[in-house]
Amino acid sequence: MLRSLLIFIACTGLFLSCGKKLETNPNTKMNNQNPPLEERIAAYSPCKINADLSHLSARQKKMVSILAEAGHLADKIFWKQTSPDALKLKDSLSLLTDEKGKNQYKYLLINYGPYDRIFEGERFAGIGQEKKPENANYYPQDLSKEEFEKYIKSHPEQKADLESQYTIVVRDGVKLKAIPFHEAYPEVSKLADKLEEAANYCDDKAFKNYLILRAKAIRTDDYYESDMAWMDLKDNDIDIVIGPIENYEDGLYNYKTAYECSLLIKDIEASKELQFFNAHIDDFEQKLPYEKKYIRKSAGGSNNILAIMNVAYFGGDCNKAVKTIASSLPNDPRVTDVKGGKKQMFKNMMEAKFDKIVVPIAKKLLDTSLLPFVDKTAFTSFVTLHEVSHTLGRGFVFGNDTLSVRKSMKELYSAIEETKADILGMYNHKHLLEMKVKDEDYIKRACVTYLAGLYRSIRFGAEAHGMANLIQLNFLRVQGAIKKKDGKLSIDEKIFFDKVGDLARMVLTVEADGDYNAAKKIIEQYGRVTDELSAEIESLKDIPRDLDTKYNY
Ligand SMILES: [Zn+2]
Repeated sequence: MLRSLLIFIACTGLFLSCGKKLETNPNTKMNNQNPPLEERIAAYSPCKINADLSHLSARQKKMVSILAEAGHLADKIFWKQTSPDALKLKDSLSLLTDEKGKNQYKYLLINYGPYDRIFEGERFAGIGQEKKPENANYYPQDLSKEEFEKYIKSHPEQKADLESQYTIVVRDGVKLKAIPFHEAYPEVSKLADKLEEAANYCDDKAFKNYLILRAKAIRTDDYYESDMAWMDLKDNDIDIVIGPIENYEDGLYNYKTAYECSLLIKDIEASKELQFFNAHIDDFEQKLPYEKKYIRKSAGGSNNILAIMNVAYFGGDCNKAVKTIASSLPNDPRVTDVKGGKKQMFKNMMEAKFDKIVVPIAKKLLDTSLLPFVDKTAFTSFVTLHEVSHTLGRGFVFGNDTLSVRKSMKELYSAIEETKADILGMYNHKHLLEMKVKDEDYIKRACVTYLAGLYRSIRFGAEAHGMANLIQLNFLRVQGAIKKKDGKLSIDEKIFFDKVGDLARMVLTVEADGDYNAAKKIIEQYGRVTDELSAEIESLKDIPRDLDTKYNY
């Protein structure tokens, strides 16, 4: 599957946007190596995601329902960003009554467009480019990297706007033009209105302030002030991440951001447990397994906020295909360097994935003696340590405080950054043992659950988390930390953490140096689906890959 990732990244091409009546096209040739549509739909296990609101006041419940309306608008804008024909196809396929048409519509809703996000971005409905355009709907479909970079060289005054996270690029005669999101998407002003309306029902002063600043940010595409205010929220029962946030959808440069909405209810009790990790973020930074010269004085430890939340509503980017289970935001290093970051773990989403996916995978692949060690708490706290580890390491390239690691890594950034967060998430368990916070038994549970979890994520296909898990799995197998006997997998506990430390050192150093070519080498060497791995993945085909979620809003 992932061999074709490299083909996927390479393909650019023209897209028909001639307004032809879009219908299910029997000619859409789906790669018959990949499973038929019914099986792909079945890989997303239907699942109702509930969040307990019983402890909220009537005004708070009212506010939550208005915020969900804002979320639906963010969801609608995301449909406009994924690919040029996504929304048109959504409208036309919704009218079809034949089995195939209904299946195409169902799968289109899961993928936010006619391209399969697990199977190499392959088109499964409508007419047009066969693979998901890496330009998404942010750049002209026929714009290549070469043309874009050549144009910017000869028009340096437009560089900032054309490369901005918050603009789309269009052709304007022979020129290129950047259009800010708040001008490109008419839903933006309605969305901002909804945030202000919700603020009228808010008795939490800090949260009210954030909602008003966020509305202003959405109208202007300047998010700094509202991100700073978001980091000042401490005791809020309700939280919302809304607007253009992550850059995964922009396959060309990872510059442009995608609209999403996470409407969240804090799990007060579960959040309390987390404060331990918070208190030790700076210790983790000081103990990073790479050259001392790279280690920062502080990771903004005490500023970081960790919280366990339950998802009330997901819309847009975070709800596409494989659902998000946690987030580490904001992405603006100007904010995180001053305020730290906010790590939010989505408890109800994580637990649903553990029950429906991790446990069945473990039963299929792991040595039976390890099954009693597959542990839900170990799964959720690994996710927490993953998010904490996004804060560790450098945000700016060593020796160049103007160049962010994100910018230096270009389209490879997401995969390398997710590898770093995962492998450090595992590595830091070593410190929990040394600090006697966790015992040997727990650490074994964490390692075994991590192993099953690796197989959960590599089935996500050609996206950052899938690639990150593939790199870890291949590296640890090649190094002998993960073993196979009689067709069953286990861990070599004697060398496991040494090898985990080796991979952590490798990706941390690549980021600190902003070394794009070294990053490329890691992906080429360890980002492959070997035949053995392909057979193991095949053996999991009856186990869901992810969830097809419904919410209360
Ligand atoms: Zn992550």
